[in-house]
Amino acid sequence: MVIGSHCHLKHGDIAGTEYTPQQIVQVMDAAGIDRSVVFAMQTTTRRSIEMARDAIAQYTDRLIPYVYALPSYERPVLDELREALTSGFRGIKMHIGECRIREHISDPVFELAAEFGAPVLMDLGGDIGTAQRLAREFPQTKLIIAHLGQYKCTNDALIEKFISVAEAHENVWLDASGVVMTYAIGEAVRRVGAERVLFGVDGPHTKPDLVSYARYAIRQIEMLEISDEEKRMVLGGSVERLLA
Ligand SMILES: [Zn+2]
Repeated sequence: MVIGSHCHLKHGDIAGTEYTPQQIVQVMDAAGIDRSVVFAMQTTTRRSIEMARDAIAQYTDRLIPYVYALPSYERPVLDELREALTSGFRGIKMHIGECRIREHISDPVFELAAEFGAPVLMDLGGDIGTAQRLAREFPQTKLIIAHLGQYKCTNDALIEKFISVAEAHENVWLDASGVVMTYAIGEAVRRVGAERVLFGVDGPHTKPDLVSYARYAIRQIEMLEISDEEKRMVLGGSVERLLA
């Protein structure tokens, strides 16, 4: 079973590109992905719940919903997160790009996530200090570091530090989507174990076309110098365990 652990109903790009559940499942079918975690970002938490609910209603067996945690100055967001997590949502997405992930923003969400045993998939934008602090101060919260620490990162030393965070803390998982230095995914598997490395497409994307991008992400895992068992684990087993 191939399970993607990072797929956007709405992206964080400038255009705020949205994909319908139909488009997402069409890509999954063509690329050979059985199930996928989906979420919207660059919108309110309320709207992220609506979009994921609508997607799940149509593809209950294929899509796994995460809720987007965007703290609002106007009203508390924790009630909405709590409501989502008690009604079938399996995880929380946070992104440093829309709000600096400062203590007063991240910490209440991390406490709530621990209460529900729900992972927080966090794009840290290369902020290693925040990753280290959250991993250390919230040992009961499952932190998934998106993109091995930074989207399309080409800085070996930085990726190395993020892998070290996972190595030092058992509550940390590494998301292998949006990684251009493919060998670093193999390095992550060797250092923290395939059980804590998660395959993801971070799609959909239209370049070069909707399906190739997803196929390429799968091939990145298949080409690694790791065992077949480890490949199966990264491609689906690890997220299945994490969300069990
Ligand atoms: Zn993403």
